[in-house]
Amino acid sequence: MIAPVYSASPERYESMDYRRCGRSGIQLPLLSLGLWHNFGSHKPFEEVKAMACRAFDSGICHFDLANNYGPEYGTAEENFGHLMSSVFKPYRDELFISSKAGWDMWPGPYGNWGSRKYLMASLDQSLKRMNIDYVDIFYSHRYDPATPVEETMQALVDIVRQGKALYVGLSRYPKEQAAKAYKYLAEHDVPCLLYQDRYNIIDRRPQDQGLIDLSYGEGVGFISFSPLQQGLLTGRYLNGIPSDSRMARNTSLKPEVLTPELLDALRRLNDMALRRGQSLAQMSLSWLLSDPRVTSVIIGASSVAQIDDDLKALDNRYFSEEEIFEIDSLFAGKDFGV
Ligand code: NDP
Repeated sequence: MIAPVYSASPERYESMDYRRCGRSGIQLPLLSLGLWHNFGSHKPFEEVKAMACRAFDSGICHFDLANNYGPEYGTAEENFGHLMSSVFKPYRDELFISSKAGWDMWPGPYGNWGSRKYLMASLDQSLKRMNIDYVDIFYSHRYDPATPVEETMQALVDIVRQGKALYVGLSRYPKEQAAKAYKYLAEHDVPCLLYQDRYNIIDRRPQDQGLIDLSYGEGVGFISFSPLQQGLLTGRYLNGIPSDSRMARNTSLKPEVLTPELLDALRRLNDMALRRGQSLAQMSLSWLLSDPRVTSVIIGASSVAQIDDDLKALDNRYFSEEEIFEIDSLFAGKDFGV
């Protein structure tokens, strides 16, 4: 039997809200979808397609990728390329697609960090894998202390001039280097569009270190990755470690982080979410979105049902002072070693 051709839902923009990204012409959906873990070669393509299509049908038009997502490096981009040449082909202009380079991708001195040589070659490879002519945003995936920041930034500027990216972004830069990079990019007429960092109820480093304020002041959008702390801020681990979970795979999320102290705090947070009529995942996303400086949050998901659950976070984004106090008393200023 021939699979029916995908046709995006006509209502796809009706239930999603969009937020302006810093001082730019771009608006992003409050929830974006990241392809770090569940979209690579280990996942049946039909499941990848079902999750990507459900996201797009729900107004999630921003897909976040990087050269090394899979987890087999490159395979999330390859699967996204299959999506582009099949289901998403008619919708390229409705999609905001990112890629990044900065972590180890291929052997030798030119497949890692922040040199011009690496960034240029990596983006060319990403475009081929994704079957697209340009990305909407290309990131320097991490700060490289050994390469002059000017070299990395000039590579980003030239990538835009070559038409291979429309905008550029930074991920995980220390504050001082981010400020320097923003200045360089603005002076070369390629203002930084987005700063990406891990930010969630447990890990507040970008807030505590002033990175969110810096970006806001410079007119750069802020996008949070791992908003659910890889699944800790969901109901997933409240009663053990499910065999199909990320923690069970013991790669980027180790079972040792699930200490009795953290579990206790998560259970209290879960009680609070239930009182608000939300799942823990929904409340954790709502908490991030209640801050107008956060342009979007990039969720990861391993099923369509999780995407549906996460989307309901949009329905209740108000927190009382008492609720904020309760969340802060459990997590603010505490180091759970995540
Ligand atoms: P999350 O913190 O959103 O964690 C996603 C995981 O949480 C899912 O895989 C799933 O776990 C679980 N989950 C999600 N929704 C629910 C739900 N409703 N109920 C129960 N469990 C749920 O994000 P990620 O860590 O996946 O990161 C998101 C994206 O951020 C990445 O895909 C990537 O695009 C970006 N990123 C960027 C980085 C950077 O350096 N710039 C670094 C890391 C991520 P399970 O799989 O166990 O079901």
